[in-house]
Amino acid sequence: MKSKNSLSGLGEFGLIDRISAHVGAGAGVITGIGDDAAVTSLSPGMQLLTSTDMLLEDVHFRRSWHPPRLLGRKSLAVSVSDVAAMGAIPRWALLSLGIPAGLPLDFLDDFIDGFLAVAEEHAVTLIGGDTCFSRGGLVISVTIMAEQYPELIVRRSGALVGHEIWVTGALGDAALVLELLERNDAPDDPSLSARLHDPTPRTAAGFALAESGLVSAMIDISDGLLADFGHIAEQSGVGGELYLEQMPTSVGFRRYAARHPAFPHHLVLSGGEDYELAFTAPPENREKIYAAMKKCGVEALPVGIVTSCPEVRVLLPDGSCYIPQKSGFTHFA
Ligand SMILES: [Mg+2]
Repeated sequence: MKSKNSLSGLGEFGLIDRISAHVGAGAGVITGIGDDAAVTSLSPGMQLLTSTDMLLEDVHFRRSWHPPRLLGRKSLAVSVSDVAAMGAIPRWALLSLGIPAGLPLDFLDDFIDGFLAVAEEHAVTLIGGDTCFSRGGLVISVTIMAEQYPELIVRRSGALVGHEIWVTGALGDAALVLELLERNDAPDDPSLSARLHDPTPRTAAGFALAESGLVSAMIDISDGLLADFGHIAEQSGVGGELYLEQMPTSVGFRRYAARHPAFPHHLVLSGGEDYELAFTAPPENREKIYAAMKKCGVEALPVGIVTSCPEVRVLLPDGSCYIPQKSGFTHFA
């Protein structure tokens, strides 16, 4: 007889029951997990924002590097980050899993635990999904739904020449940890490791910036500032100058850089997975933005300026151009 303590013993419906047992009633959820489709209700006057992300074993994560609880957290956090970058309020999520043979039930329990913890932190309710057997590695697909008043949604396309380019938090930590892991050189600083394995989506900051109307365009930094600001530039029909010496870095990042002469400085601009926000705003909004971000407990700094020339350049303090070694993570490369 197959044991209920293994995934094969539990079966698909057993697994769904196991997950839904931990999901409470959510705001706006009329019918949650268990029917053919979930039924939800938007707040009056708001529009629905939907985004989906896939995380594939050995493409986006390695099971040996990423503890299951943190993998569960990150799976939802990266999707929450996408809707935060539009200034929206995350509400509901769908989770689909392709599960390889022999995946321990403990792994799944920890994964779901982490996923639901992030859901609770951001007031997101899991309303459905799918599970199936994977002949390859673990496949994770998350769809997030969010809402916002139409006039407050911040897109990538609103940047204007002369606006300042801002970033929240610090850049490069996650990419540094990844680079160290790839060199089999485990990072000795837990605050750095957390930035790769357990990123913090900037929900409150994104919402505050949208609600205040202080910003003209916004994106979350998943592929590196250079690549992600490049998306804003392209969709807004502008260019930009980024000032290398103004890029915010963490204490752990600077400490590592000071100890290693061949330090990969390009990670600040082209390392992925920071999940910070990059946004543009008129210079006269500077003090108001500082105040709004302070209220959210998030640091933010202007790091460049939107220009009319159709390229994004990185400038050194002497005004010369810095050419980074890599310009960001590219799939299919
Ligand atoms: Mg994004």
